[in-house]
Amino acid sequence: MSISIPFDNSYARLPASLFSRHLPTAVRDPKLIAFNRDLADSLGITGDASDQELAQIFSGNQIPNGADPLAQLYAGHQFGQWNPQLGDGRAILLGEAQNRDIQLKGAGPTPYSRNGDGRAWLGPVLREYVVSEAMHALNIPTTRALAAVETGEDIYRETALPGAIITRVASSHIRVGTFQILAARGDIEGLQALFEHAVARHYPDASSPVEFLNAVIAAQAELIVKWLSVGFIHGVMNTDNCAISGETIDYGPCAFMDTLNPMQVFSSIDRHGRYAYGNQPDIIVWNMAQLATALVPLMEDRDHAVESFTASVHAMPVMIQRLWREAFAAKIGIADPTADDETLVMELMGMMGKQNADFTNVFRGLSDGSPRDQFVDRDAFDTWSNKWKKRLESEANVDLLMQSVNPDRIPRNHQIEAMISAAVQGDYTPFHTLQAALANPYETDPAFEAFRRPPSEDERVKATFCGT
Ligand code: AMP
Ligand code: MG
Repeated sequence: MSISIPFDNSYARLPASLFSRHLPTAVRDPKLIAFNRDLADSLGITGDASDQELAQIFSGNQIPNGADPLAQLYAGHQFGQWNPQLGDGRAILLGEAQNRDIQLKGAGPTPYSRNGDGRAWLGPVLREYVVSEAMHALNIPTTRALAAVETGEDIYRETALPGAIITRVASSHIRVGTFQILAARGDIEGLQALFEHAVARHYPDASSPVEFLNAVIAAQAELIVKWLSVGFIHGVMNTDNCAISGETIDYGPCAFMDTLNPMQVFSSIDRHGRYAYGNQPDIIVWNMAQLATALVPLMEDRDHAVESFTASVHAMPVMIQRLWREAFAAKIGIADPTADDETLVMELMGMMGKQNADFTNVFRGLSDGSPRDQFVDRDAFDTWSNKWKKRLESEANVDLLMQSVNPDRIPRNHQIEAMISAAVQGDYTPFHTLQAALANPYETDPAFEAFRRPPSEDERVKATFCGT
């Protein structure tokens, strides 16, 4: 008995310049760490398989029927610098099920590996598994995790580390950089085919490149505001890590803030803070400008195209500001915010920043007890709180609203790190407990009280690594 995956392979039917057909490289002794059965069901995966059989499939040792494995080509701006060729250097797309990509990440070298080994180690695989599933539970568009396996092989970074493979599910892996490489190469046929494919898959109502750009801009504006509203820092918002679908993709050095700090950076490679928490709204506009540039060759009247693309990109900051105001007003219980409400939010966040208050616990505390304890200067908080309570008199269902947008628990960095350290020692209990704690993050649960706790000084994570 084995499982059956209802593959379609629409990407493999695109022009050959967009990808390389390529098989995973077999691994020695794969062991299943996790298999996401709910997600498998939603992909139409049927049948039963033992953990051993699942490990064979999701390590790439056994190619499931109907798969047409390939590595996708893309380029991208990395930290603002153009890199003319990237591509899946360690990821292999098996195919699509229910219109969603099923991709092995860490499955061995591909024609796009450059100097990399095509592998991933256990730490980043588990981080991506837990954080992407937590993002989904937080109602934030994201790629999902279908499976994780240990490979039974060591890989070498600075030291020997256990190898692992994650199976990622995405509504597609088309990135800004996928458009960029075709535009840069003057491959107009490929660009047109990719455009039509992306429209059909993601934005079927878009009837022109401008409408398509506007749809991507709207999706990305919503996504970035959702990140901000839970304190998420992506860490590497390069154009190759920016999905056309509007899903969060590529969990590398990502992290959630504990205390509020607009300039917070965790990624060890982000030395100038380009991808700091508070810079994310600017960077996404920059990324959309790169997408716009890559779409220009699709237009017959290029001058006119540049004009309308520019207008679309210029409208984005205002759109983000409006969404930000709505999202953060909701976090303090206000449904239809005015400019004054934005000031009220800013006052609270100003105090939080100055007094190193815990971002998640302050907002959750507004509906769940006392956020006052989070502040050093409690008089200042009381003054704000009185003003806020007056404002709430004209609002209904404030607690419900706040509880639906202020999570009780987030994947805190120190818990992720502790979970990874345990797993490297062979103890997967924290991996499973953390997942359980993050599965319903908007519901208070005494069983998971410990997961609300911010890090102590010596638990605080100062830097996160790409883990490549
Ligand atoms: P990332 O930082 O994960 O977005 O990766 C950036 C680029 O480097 C992508 O083209 C990856 O496929 C590639 N890459 C990352 N790690 C490896 C690796 N271990 N082997 C080969 N390519 C890699
Ligand atoms: Mg990437």
